[in-house]
Amino acid sequence: MENAQTQSTASVGIIGAGMSGMLMAIKLLREGKTNFKVFEKAKKVGGVWRENRYPGVACDVASFAYCYEFEPKADWSRRFSEGAEIQEYFEGVAKKYELDKYVEFETVVSSAKFTDDNKWLLTTDKGESHHFDILVDATGPLNKKMYPKIEGFDTFAGKVMHTADWDDDFDYTGKRVGILGSGSSGVQATAPIAEKAGHLTKFIRTPQWIMPSPNPYYGEFARFLKRKVPLIGTATRKFYDWVGEMFGRASLYDGWQRRGVTWAVNNNLKGIKDPELREKMRPDFQPMCRRMIVSENYYPALQRDNVHVERQGIERIEEKGIRTKDGQLHELDLLVLATGFLPNQWGVADITGPNGVKLSDIWKDEANRNYRSITVPGLPNFFVLIGTNSPITNLSLIDIADIGVDYVLKSMKRIEAGEFTTMAPKQAAATKFGAELASSFDGTAWVSGCTGWYTEGSELPQTWPWAPKVFKDKLAEPELADYDLK
Ligand code: NAP
Repeated sequence: MENAQTQSTASVGIIGAGMSGMLMAIKLLREGKTNFKVFEKAKKVGGVWRENRYPGVACDVASFAYCYEFEPKADWSRRFSEGAEIQEYFEGVAKKYELDKYVEFETVVSSAKFTDDNKWLLTTDKGESHHFDILVDATGPLNKKMYPKIEGFDTFAGKVMHTADWDDDFDYTGKRVGILGSGSSGVQATAPIAEKAGHLTKFIRTPQWIMPSPNPYYGEFARFLKRKVPLIGTATRKFYDWVGEMFGRASLYDGWQRRGVTWAVNNNLKGIKDPELREKMRPDFQPMCRRMIVSENYYPALQRDNVHVERQGIERIEEKGIRTKDGQLHELDLLVLATGFLPNQWGVADITGPNGVKLSDIWKDEANRNYRSITVPGLPNFFVLIGTNSPITNLSLIDIADIGVDYVLKSMKRIEAGEFTTMAPKQAAATKFGAELASSFDGTAWVSGCTGWYTEGSELPQTWPWAPKVFKDKLAEPELADYDLK
């Protein structure tokens, strides 16, 4: 791909070459700007799609909506494509834009410090230092695996795999497998593992609501048509964007969207034939309180003869398997940890602004910690893509990252135009935003009484309490009156 060889005045450091970091880099290139560098801890681009290779991994946002708007793919194989196909898509896009030239792979940013000459100084685990005018954190909210703290964990003699750290070489055909966790990852992994394992025990602490949605393969003719008539893909994307917006609204208020979702998930639950199993799988919280799980094969898999659903709590893990609170030992060859991620662990642990102020300290104070989820008071020229309190529900996070990237570009243009050198949101603007957030969660499904990573370890849910569309409106232009400009 030919890129215009103009040099931007402002230099940009991007942490992470996943979906959002790639998007930031590509949009810079598309504007002819090459004065940037991306730091990626791994050997390849792709982020969550590179890391999550567990059986059944897929995106529960329709593929036509889960791709860059300017790089549509006409021949997705299914409505909800599998992780490998999505990873292939991102690798293909990275190749097209020759991102290799700009990404420092296998490089961990160990610290970022704002210096007296108004630059971000990044140091890496390779001992290198880099200076940038603008720093973009594109590490995403879910990048640190959560390992459960269960007594005896280290004594287990079998194989243990986290869903985000899958060992492709381990063959579990015919073996006794246990899956711990029933969020999106644990649900997606259930059917394919059940098909291959000798026996599967699903250890479920909190059953979740499941939205049924068929996942058809697109036939050759459909793909041919979409290749020939790109408008079909564009229209399909628009439709699924609308679906995402409606899902977002189902969490917000008791309208037809929430009633529709409630009906669909209850009806789906009725499909479990055994009344005892059905009751075991009935969640005790309102639909949309947690991120909705989309699956057509989960309940059928749980009803297989070689699958046992265990709702007894776990007493401890032993050499041979898991002992539940009723005293029973469930012997296992493989324990799959679908236990998710430590929530809200954006980026680099050590980010320091002027006067030694630390990002980790700023974020402890939930009421004052961010401005419209994109910038942070006290940290000049620092932007977070899909930051705290972004819309992170059942919609395409690519769209959310895209809005953030455009905001960075608009801010950057003003810096390059010489309007100012640095911008950091005023503390008062962040506090006002925090107060608006706090007063807007009432009536949303997220505060109706459930646990989960949206709410874990924080007073307010980590979500955006308004319609997803409002995010676009609020980030349409940097409102400079809300910023301290230097
Ligand atoms: P998750 O939703 O956080 O689920 C973690 C699961 O592990 C829960 O069922 C939890 O039980 C269980 N668990 C954790 N510690 C446990 C313990 N000590 N004992 C027993 N159970 C324990 O994690 P996830 O499924 O990996 O999904 C995380 C997020 O990733 C999703 O919400 C979504 O945003 C994203 N994701 C998206 C897709 C997609 O298709 N777009 C696919 C996968 C993941 P409790 O519920 O009782 O805490």
